[in-house]
Amino acid sequence: MKGKTALVTGSTSGIGLGIAQALAERGAHLVLNGFGDADEIARLRASLAERHGVTVRYEAADLSRPAEIEALFSRLQAAGVGVDVLVNNAGIQHVAPVERFPTERWDAVIALNLSAAFHTTRCALPGMRERGWGRIINIASAHGLVASVEKAAYVAAKHGIIGLTKVVALETARSAITANAICPGWVLTPLVQKQIDARAAQAGISADEARVALLSEKQPSVDFVTPGQIGEMAAFLCSEAAAQVRGAAWTIDGGWTAQ
Ligand code: NAD
Repeated sequence: MKGKTALVTGSTSGIGLGIAQALAERGAHLVLNGFGDADEIARLRASLAERHGVTVRYEAADLSRPAEIEALFSRLQAAGVGVDVLVNNAGIQHVAPVERFPTERWDAVIALNLSAAFHTTRCALPGMRERGWGRIINIASAHGLVASVEKAAYVAAKHGIIGLTKVVALETARSAITANAICPGWVLTPLVQKQIDARAAQAGISADEARVALLSEKQPSVDFVTPGQIGEMAAFLCSEAAAQVRGAAWTIDGGWTAQ
């Protein structure tokens, strides 16, 4: 991947960071995005750049706002940076029964987990077509394939992004641009830690007990998937060996969706 540039959304933490690391390890320059402490982000940029000998930019855009996505791509274009690999990873969760689901939270989850991928894709594709190569990787979820209670917006967005992935894969099928989705099961990141903490508080149990209960309910391996494992799957999708993997929704879920 030497000489290629990867924009990984939501890469200041969790899965996005794991993917950014795996791509940088293979020589890709990075455009990081996501929220976080400015000093920590500066340290992260410096350490990735030094360890892998790649250029690491940071773009702070709030991807739930289409205008900020357009501004981000304009800045990259002005700086002569083309996005060869687009990883749509930034995502949020909100848990509530559908009749009590706050409409503002519905809008926020759909805006970031689904609409942002549409906007980044439409902005990135022209450059990929010009350069004749590209990889679009959408981080969906086991919840893109099956549902759980109290996750209406998340499940709708994740099913939606798999649909979007398939359309983009068909529209790029005769080119060297591919679009695929990755569907992880539970990964221990801040997004999931919040759900573990909420479960522990609600049931009056320890965080450890809540973690085992959360895993046992859905994930037959009773073990977390790691950001590094997802990074390796993304790196494979970027390889020439994956040139004909198109419109797939690949699970990496400890057996969650095999049930
Ligand atoms: P995380 O909370 O650790 O990271 C989310 C990232 O998105 C952070 O970098 C955050 O700053 C960024 N972000 C949040 N709002 C943003 C916004 N408006 N604009 C730009 N960036 C924003 O979460 P994670 O668990 O690493 O999740 C990453 C992706 O993986 C999400 O799409 C999530 O749905 C998906 N996923 C996670 C799991 C899991 O078990 N953790 C499982 C399946 C799928």
